[in-house]
Amino acid sequence: MFSSSSLPSRGRLIVLIGGILLLGFLTTNLISFRVSTAALKATILQNELPLTSSNIYAEIQTDLLRPIFVSSLMSNDTFVKDWLINGEQDPGQVTRYLDEIRAKYDVFTAFLISDRTKQYYHFSGPTKAIKAGEPNDDWFFRVAEMKQPYEVNIDFNMAQNMEITIFINYRVLDYQGRFIGATGVGLKLDTVTRILSHYRTSYQRGIYFLDGDGNITVRSDGAVIQEANIKTAPGISTIAAEILRKPDGYFEYVRDGETMLLTSRFIPDLGWRVIVEQRESEALSALWRSFVTNLAIGIVIILLTIGTIAYAINLYQTRLEDMAVTDKLTGIGNRQLLDIALDQTLKLRRRVPLPMSVLLIDIDRFKTINDTRGHLKGDEAIRSVAQILKDRVRESDLLARWGGEEFILLAHNCRLPHAQELAESLREAVASAPILTPDDGLRVTVSCGVAECSDDDDAETLVGRADRALYRAKEEGRNRVVIEIA
Ligand code: GH3
Ligand code: MG
Ligand code: MG
Repeated sequence: MFSSSSLPSRGRLIVLIGGILLLGFLTTNLISFRVSTAALKATILQNELPLTSSNIYAEIQTDLLRPIFVSSLMSNDTFVKDWLINGEQDPGQVTRYLDEIRAKYDVFTAFLISDRTKQYYHFSGPTKAIKAGEPNDDWFFRVAEMKQPYEVNIDFNMAQNMEITIFINYRVLDYQGRFIGATGVGLKLDTVTRILSHYRTSYQRGIYFLDGDGNITVRSDGAVIQEANIKTAPGISTIAAEILRKPDGYFEYVRDGETMLLTSRFIPDLGWRVIVEQRESEALSALWRSFVTNLAIGIVIILLTIGTIAYAINLYQTRLEDMAVTDKLTGIGNRQLLDIALDQTLKLRRRVPLPMSVLLIDIDRFKTINDTRGHLKGDEAIRSVAQILKDRVRESDLLARWGGEEFILLAHNCRLPHAQELAESLREAVASAPILTPDDGLRVTVSCGVAECSDDDDAETLVGRADRALYRAKEEGRNRVVIEIA
């Protein structure tokens, strides 16, 4: 009756607590997600992708080291120099030499070209001489003029399963440092193919090799960029010039609404760049998953917390409400409860005029009990009388402690004669029951004033009549029931 009026505020409190928890949780989670995203992105761009390109770079460098060394050996070999200086006598000698190099170092070709005769010696014997102006032979005239001791010349064939062939072209000088020929080995560089298949299976990363003009020479399976040149590919074209200008760097671009993270690294021996790229969404997918999981767990915890808080609030509020309307000594209703109940009943009677009576019950000569047995025993006596009364009234009736050693009963649907009978039976019950302990011998009696509610009664007039009747009961000798008719 009391609690219903406070329900909306209870609901508002729970909504407020839930809102604060949810807001706080969402905010901290979002902030930490954003911070981790930025940190992870930086790590991927600045560490992981560059590490991949460095690994690729190192692998290619390692694979080139041996053939460069072998070619250097050949160009400095006094046999090769002397044989060229001495007029290229007995080609069989040089053929055997080249064949031995090929077999020993596991390369697919070994060659020597004389600058004087332009004769091309192959590991299987002399072949036709090279000619200036022949595109296939351009490389020799380039090597004859170049400053550095050797070059790495790539020849790759996309059609042949991306097979890359490289030639190490080493300059041969006579003892006075004059150019007398070129020698070296050719080998299939399977490193690139191996790298591509390794990264295809191990990471969600795209690998590209670019020549100096931005042409994609080799690309991994599932590559995002399918165009021939990065200058014409959507998205990356905006940063193509920068990629080709810098030896290495990390970049970002957007293609079809997707952000791509990318690093580039120049491989001087090949004159190529290796590009390693990853979709930002894939790089951050683990983080996103953990964000969603955290969110789900958090919401469950918040719901459980709200549930617990709601339960606790309900429990304590109900307890407080009970305490507010319960008499501590006897456990029956207190005067506040009676006031509320009487007020409501009187209001209800204006709509549905059901009969209702009031009984005021007062313990006779209670002061004597206090005086002879002490206050604590007096309290016990009040409790006993309350219990006797409570055991005998209907649940629908309202029994309350009116004050001191006085009780009041609202008897619903009860006319005066009935109320009088009820009062009489209560009086008898108290008079005949042992009040303290069964063997104590203490008997108490009560006097009772009864009044029935009339149509123009308010609380004051109704209780006033019952009070006057009680007064008369006391006057007439106590332990009796007196009624007052309106
Ligand atoms: P009567 O009603 O028959 O005229 O006599 P009485 O002795 O009961 O008279 P009165 O109503 O004047 O005295 C009631 C006494 O009850 C006074 C007060 O000290 C005592 N009293 C009131 N409340 C309590 C209580 O909670 N515990 C105890 N032990 N005594 C109480
Ligand atoms: Mg009294
Ligand atoms: Mg009394």
